[in-house]
Amino acid sequence: MPMLEVKHLVVEYPGPVRALDGLDLTLRRGEIVCLLGANGAGKTTLLKTLCGLVLPKEGEIRWETPNGQRPRLGVLLEGSRAFYWNLTGWENAAYFAALKGLPEDSLDEHLEELFQLVGLWEARNRLAGDYSSGMKKRLSLLIALLGKPDLLLLDEPTAGMDRVSVVEFEEYLHRIVQEEGIGILCATHLLSFAFTVASRMVYLEKGKLKDWEWSSLFGRHRRAVFLLAGEIPQKTAEQYKPYLQDFGQGRWQLEGATDDKTIFKALEELIVEQDLDLLQIYGVD
Ligand code: ATP
Repeated sequence: MPMLEVKHLVVEYPGPVRALDGLDLTLRRGEIVCLLGANGAGKTTLLKTLCGLVLPKEGEIRWETPNGQRPRLGVLLEGSRAFYWNLTGWENAAYFAALKGLPEDSLDEHLEELFQLVGLWEARNRLAGDYSSGMKKRLSLLIALLGKPDLLLLDEPTAGMDRVSVVEFEEYLHRIVQEEGIGILCATHLLSFAFTVASRMVYLEKGKLKDWEWSSLFGRHRRAVFLLAGEIPQKTAEQYKPYLQDFGQGRWQLEGATDDKTIFKALEELIVEQDLDLLQIYGVD
């Protein structure tokens, strides 16, 4: 049985705005599901509904726990007001750990592990209000990770992070999923991140989920263009020559017809196996 099963979820905001319109979703232990979709598609609403901040109008949310209650959730939502700006990073973490009821005897060890992990160890005694936006994001993430949750709900976790941190974070997500067997549902606009971490990608459109399909990104456009950064080995560059243009200094353009599957295969290979960054995507006629 999946750890989470959502059936026909409907959420309406005053207006009325139908933010979720009969959404179905399952998530299993050990799975990282990335949620993609245009602005306003309903990604944040879904995450807020799962953690109980928004009440659905219709539908069902089933948890696999023995009593059907929500499992231990770690939640990272958008915005940087998730902690106290006049406390240090460490004080914030200790405060939220106490709120979560984490045992005090192993707390220092747990916090040190997390501060090292998110790369804030050196800055742990600085005021959180003085952190840069990327550091604030990492502190929010650290707070979500307190107490090793069963399910992580992440809204744009990499926004504001530099490239090195994104790579470390990708590795960490793989590790906790493998070692702890937790589930992760993660809304993101960063395709290269989604490709690297996801066991499954789903696409949200007007409050409904669809399986990931490249065509969903390009609408009526007949050609897809991707701007990439990084090194491409000569053999791979040769293999995809008709599609690739070298702009020099590690910048590449990959272009092809949206109904030609080779271009998407090439893209997946370049960003997952060759670790190129995806800088931009657009459709042209
Ligand atoms: P983004 O990628 O921009 O973060 P999203 O996919 O997370 O977008 P939501 O924030 O879930 O989308 O919004 C879904 C729809 O619900 C949008 O039309 C939005 O305007 C509307 N909406 C979201 N929050 C509220 C609210 N508090 N009151 C009224 N409408 C809302």
